[in-house]
Amino acid sequence: MNKIAMKTPLVEMDGDEMTRILWGMIKEELLNPFIDLKTEYYDLGLENRNETDDKVTIDAAEAIKKYGVGVKCATITPNAARVKEYNLKEMWKSPNGTIRAILDGTVFRAPITVKSIKPYVKGWEKPITIARHAYGDVYKDIEMKIPGKGKVELVYTDENGNETKELVHNFNDAGIVLGMHNLNKSIESFARSCFNYALDTRQDLWFATKDTISKKYDHTFKDIFQEIYDNEYKEKFEKANIEYFYTLIDDAVARVIKSKGGYIWACKNYDGDVMSDMIATAFGSLAMMTSVLVSPEGYYEYEAAHGTVQRHYYRHLEGKETSTNSVATIFAWTGALRKRGELDKLQDLVDFANKLEEATIQTIDEGYMTKDLAMISDLDNITITNSEEFIKEIRKRLEKKM
Ligand code: NAP
Ligand code: MG
Repeated sequence: MNKIAMKTPLVEMDGDEMTRILWGMIKEELLNPFIDLKTEYYDLGLENRNETDDKVTIDAAEAIKKYGVGVKCATITPNAARVKEYNLKEMWKSPNGTIRAILDGTVFRAPITVKSIKPYVKGWEKPITIARHAYGDVYKDIEMKIPGKGKVELVYTDENGNETKELVHNFNDAGIVLGMHNLNKSIESFARSCFNYALDTRQDLWFATKDTISKKYDHTFKDIFQEIYDNEYKEKFEKANIEYFYTLIDDAVARVIKSKGGYIWACKNYDGDVMSDMIATAFGSLAMMTSVLVSPEGYYEYEAAHGTVQRHYYRHLEGKETSTNSVATIFAWTGALRKRGELDKLQDLVDFANKLEEATIQTIDEGYMTKDLAMISDLDNITITNSEEFIKEIRKRLEKKM
C-alpha cells in the first residue's frame, strides 16, 4: 500500500504523562502505517519546557503562524507540587495560555457523539459546540473587601488627566466590590473567529449576553458582534445557508435545552467556563470532547479537551494496566490532518481523517471501549479494553477501510 503523501508540515506539539504515552501509540498504530507523516516536532513536555525556559512553547506558536495548522498533546500546567516533582526553575505558565495569547484565538469545544452513549438531554441529536471568549471579565478583575462605611467610585483618567467618575456604591456597612474590563479589539477577534468557524463547519452561530441589564458592558459585546456580522459576514452566511442568532443569555440556555443541537454557541468568558462543563457532562464525558483554537487570521490548533490523565500515568509507571480513552487525542489528529488536507487540496488526507474517525466510532459502537466509556454506555455486549488494545481495535477497522 502506498502511504498518503503530505505537502506542508503539521506543527506537532508533544506533551506530558498518560497523553504522551497515547500520543506515541496513536502515531505508531494509526498514523505512520498509513501516512508519510510530515510534521515539525516541538516537545512541550514539561522537562523540555523547563530546559528551554519555555521558549519551545513560543517557537511552537510561531510555527503555527507559519504553517497554519498544529496538533497538541495535553500538557501539565505547573503548580507548586509540579515545581517540586519536576524540579522546575520556575512555575512556567500554561502552554495553552501562552499559545492562545500569541495566536489571539478562540477555543471551540465539541463533543464526539456515539450511538451507545445517549446525552442526558433527550432531544440533542447533534453536537453543540461551545466557543468561549478567553479574555478579561471576571478572570482579570480587581476585587476589594469593603470593611465599612465609605464610597466606591469608578474613575477613568484619560491621557490628559481628565477624569470621568461613576459612583459604584455608598457603603453604610461592610461589603464587596469588583472592577473588570474587556477590550473592543479582543471582542472583535472573538467575533471574527466565531463567524469564520461557523462558515468553516457550516453551522449556525448563537451568541447571548445579558445586555438588558448590562446596558454598556454586555451591550458592547452585542453591538460589536452585530456590526461585524452586518459588515463582513451577512452575505457569506446567507450564501452558506447558515444563521447568526442573538438572544439573551437566559433565553439561550432555555433554547439550548429544547434544541436538537448542531450549532455553535458563542459565550462570554464566564458563561463559556460554566456552560462547557455542563455541555461536556450532558453529552457523556470530558474524554469525548475535542478542542480547537481558531485565530482571527485563520490559524488552527487542535487538541483534546481533557488533561494529561495523571492518575492513569502513575499506574502506568507502576507497570499496571491502564484503560485510558484516546478518542479525543485521535480526533485532535484527524481535525488537524483534515484541515491540512483542505488547505493543501489533498483529498486523500481528508479522506483518511474521515476514515480514522469512522473507524474510532465504529470500534465503540461495536462494543470495544475503554473503562470510562463502558461505565456510561448502554450497549449490552461490551469488551473493556486497555489503552493499547483499544487503539489496536481501531487499527483493525481502519485497515479495512483503506
Ligand atoms: P485530567 O487529566 O483531565 O483527568 C481528570 C480525570 O478525568 C482522570 O483522572 C480520569 O478519571 C478522567 N479522564 C480524563 N481524561 C480521560 C481519558 N482520556 N480517559 C479516561 N479517563 C479520563 O485532569 P487532571 O488530572 O485534573 O489534570 C492532570 C494534568 O493535566 C494537570 O497537570 C493539568 O495541568 C493538566 N491539564 C492540561 C490540559 C491541557 O493541556 N489542555 C487541560 C486540563 C488539564 P479517573 O481517574 O477517575 O479514571
Ligand atoms: Mg469550567
